[in-house]
Amino acid sequence: MSKLVQGYEVVIGFETHAQLSTKSKIFSRASVAFGAEPNTQACAVDIALPGTLPVMNIGAVERAIEFGLAINAHIAERSIFARKNYFYPDLPKGYQISQFEIPVVQGGEVSFFLEVGKETVRKTVRLERAHLEEDAGKSLHEDSSLGASIGDGRGQSGIDLNRAGTPLLEIVTQPDMRSSEEAVAYAKELHKIVTWIGICDGNMQEGSFRCDANVSVRKPGGELGTRREIKNLNSFKFMQQAIDYEVRWQIDQIEDGHAIQQATVLFDPDSGETRAMRTKEDAADYRYFPDPDLPPLVIGRDWVERVKGEMAELPRVMAERFVKDYALPEYDATQLTQSKAVAAYFEATAKACGQAKLASNWIMGEVSRRLNASEMAIEQAPVSAAQLAALIGRISDNTISNNAARQVFEGLWNKEGPSGSEGDVDALIEAKGLKQMNDTGELEKIIDDVLAANPKNVEEFKAGNAKALNGLVGPIMKASKGKANPGQVNALLMKKLG
Ligand code: ADP
Ligand code: MG
Repeated sequence: MSKLVQGYEVVIGFETHAQLSTKSKIFSRASVAFGAEPNTQACAVDIALPGTLPVMNIGAVERAIEFGLAINAHIAERSIFARKNYFYPDLPKGYQISQFEIPVVQGGEVSFFLEVGKETVRKTVRLERAHLEEDAGKSLHEDSSLGASIGDGRGQSGIDLNRAGTPLLEIVTQPDMRSSEEAVAYAKELHKIVTWIGICDGNMQEGSFRCDANVSVRKPGGELGTRREIKNLNSFKFMQQAIDYEVRWQIDQIEDGHAIQQATVLFDPDSGETRAMRTKEDAADYRYFPDPDLPPLVIGRDWVERVKGEMAELPRVMAERFVKDYALPEYDATQLTQSKAVAAYFEATAKACGQAKLASNWIMGEVSRRLNASEMAIEQAPVSAAQLAALIGRISDNTISNNAARQVFEGLWNKEGPSGSEGDVDALIEAKGLKQMNDTGELEKIIDDVLAANPKNVEEFKAGNAKALNGLVGPIMKASKGKANPGQVNALLMKKLG
C-alpha cells in the first residue's frame, strides 16, 4: 500500500548497526564498556599492530545465530570474513573486518502492524542479510555537538580508539518500505527483537542501535530511483523527520529537472535538513578480499539447534500463543508483546481475572495512556497486575460500571484510598462511593420519577422513535449519580415502556 507524495512513490531500505552485547571485542579480549577514558580500551589487536592476530569471539557468533533464528533466516554453515579497505583517521588499520560475499545470516523477515488511517494493516519487510563486523574508532571534535572537549579550546580534533573492534551486527533490508511511517515502524520492531532476545542493549543515545535509511523516489511502477543514504539516525523522531525532509528534497530536485546523485547525507536535527557528506563509494572502491588472518566461520546444525533450545520464547511465537490461549485478536497479541515486561503484566492480569480481552483492553488503553503521560515503563506502574485484575473482576461482577472503574484506576494509580487498606480495590470503591445500585426498588423509583418528568420522550419512544430513549437514560444515570447499572436501566425501561 504505497502512499504517494506529490505523485511519487517513496522507496526505503535500511541498514542497521546493532552493537552486540558481549563483554569483550569481536576479535580481542579488550573491554567494550561504554564511557571509559579515551584510548584506554583499544588493544594491539583492535588496531592491528604488526604481529597480532584476531581471534573470533564466540559470543558474537552466538548472538548472530540468535538473531537469524528470531527472524526466520538461513544461517550460513560457512561464512567468510573480508577486509573492507578505506582510509579514515579513526581507522588506523586502514581496513575494517566485515563480511561481504557470504554473510552469516541470509534472508529472513520482520513483520509488524501499522496504523493506516483508521485501519490496522500488517506489513512484512524482507531482510537481505545480517553480517558480523567490527566497529571503528571515533573522531572527536572540540566544540562539536558531541560536547567532547579534548584540547585547550582551540578547536582541535582527537581520535578515541576505544570503540575499535566493538562487535556489530549489520542488518540490511530489501528496499521494501514505502513511507517514513513504515520505516519507523520497522526500526521499532527490529529494536524490539534485538532487545527482546538480548543480543543488543538497544541504547540509541550511546549508539548501540544506529540506523541508516536509504531513500529514493520514483513514479509508481517505474524503475528504482537513485538513492541517498541518511547516516546514523539515532532516534525514532529524527528518523521520521529526516526521511520526510529527504523525500521532499528529492522530489523538488527531480521536478526542477536535476538528477539525484548517489550520496551519503547527514541529518541535522537543529535545521531539520539533510546535507550531503560525501558522494557514495561503490563496493569496488573498498577492494574487499577475504581476511587471510581469519578462517571461514563454520556453524554446524548442532550448534544452531543448541542455541535455539536455549533461547527464550520469541515475541512472534508468544503473540501466536496469546491468540491461541487467550483468544485475543492478532493486533492485541502483537501490541502486548512489545516488550517482555508488558507481556508478563498482561499474562499475570489475564490469569488472575480470567478475562483476557478485558485485560488486554485495559493494558492497551488506560494503563498505556497513563504510562505514556508519565514517561514510565510498565515495570514502574503504580498499579500492579493483581490490582488491575481485581478491578476487572469488579466490572464483570457488576459491582462497578466501566466509568467508575476508570475513577478507581486513577485512584489506584495515585495511591489513594483509606489508610490501612491502601491499594485495596474494594476499599477504594467503597471510599469513593462508586458501587453500582443493586437495589432494584431504589432504581425503579428513580426511573418512575424520570418517566413522569419527561412525558414527551415517553410518547415519542412509544411512537417508534428509538432515539427518544437517550433522553430518558441520561437523566436516570444522573439521578443515580452514575451508580445505576446501564444494562439494568435498559432492561427496566423496556419493561416499563412495554
Ligand atoms: P551499500 O552497502 O553500498 O549501502 P547495498 O546494495 O547493500 O549498498 O544497499 C543498502 C541498502 O539500500 C539496502 O537496505 C537496500 O535495500 C537499499 N536500497 C538499494 N537500492 C535502493 C533504492 N533505489 N532506493 C532505496 N533503497 C535502496
Ligand atoms: Mg550502506
